[in-house]
Amino acid sequence: MYLEKLKLDGRVAVVTGGGRAIGLACVTALAEAGAKVVIAEIDPKVAASGRATLQKSGLDAEIVQLDVTNSTEVTKVADTLAARHGRIDILVNNAGIARSGIAAEDLSDEHWHNVNDVNYNGLFWCCRDFGRHMLAAGRGSIVNIGSMSGYIVNRPQKQAYYNASKAAVHHLTRSLGAEWADRGVRVNAVAPTYIDTPMVHEVPGVDAMMKDWLRDTPMGRLGKPDEIASVVHFLASDAASLLTGSIVLADGGFTCW
Ligand code: NDP
Repeated sequence: MYLEKLKLDGRVAVVTGGGRAIGLACVTALAEAGAKVVIAEIDPKVAASGRATLQKSGLDAEIVQLDVTNSTEVTKVADTLAARHGRIDILVNNAGIARSGIAAEDLSDEHWHNVNDVNYNGLFWCCRDFGRHMLAAGRGSIVNIGSMSGYIVNRPQKQAYYNASKAAVHHLTRSLGAEWADRGVRVNAVAPTYIDTPMVHEVPGVDAMMKDWLRDTPMGRLGKPDEIASVVHFLASDAASLLTGSIVLADGGFTCW
């Protein structure tokens, strides 16, 4: 009974930014559990390379080009996929950018808008447009990738815009979770610590900062993409049937200190 609840056979799942890193790990976990998965990526080359990696483990995924910041495109992709598959059961809102390292007083309008457009506005367009199909069907599970940065202020890198965007993701998750709870659609989030992906390695001065990050982490290490994908799989599945509006911290203990 318990293992059965983790199976996703017959379900259709969409993962934004699913071509690499945490997104690709989520695609792999959901596909391994039996779901038909769609990689929704801004860059078709990243999507194709992610799919090729997946195929090496005997799994597969469909690819669709999607820039989550373009609400018209999000609506179109959601409607097209729902019509093609007859259902959308799972949405993983993973697409996100950090662009860390700019002090608040030096931040341009462009930088603020860009990070919030991808991390927060884009995530909402996806919740709204895929959520509509889930609400019509009376079932669905949305998993948002938030961050421990929505709880704590990272140091020493400056990234107020990123931290604020992730805090907004968490409260949107709670709000939609409550709003849609009696209509069969669950909305939860995962809040990861530093995960070993290109995003972390793109932070300016990462080598010098790493010792601070590890010192502040009780487990003393970065997380791995598959460790986030396991939580996403659980939240997406019927094993999490009582969870909605929850933010699951997967942070190696970071927020304990
Ligand atoms: P990556 O940068 O490795 O991957 C992000 C993916 O999202 C990329 O494939 C990227 O495409 C895609 N993407 C970016 N913008 C858009 C867009 N507008 N529309 C569609 N797809 C887009 O990041 P991670 O795997 O590290 O992060 C994934 C998520 O996890 C993010 O939301 C991030 O904030 C969150 N997170 C990450 C942590 C970490 O330490 N790595 C910690 C906490 C949270 P492309 O490659 O073409 O740019």
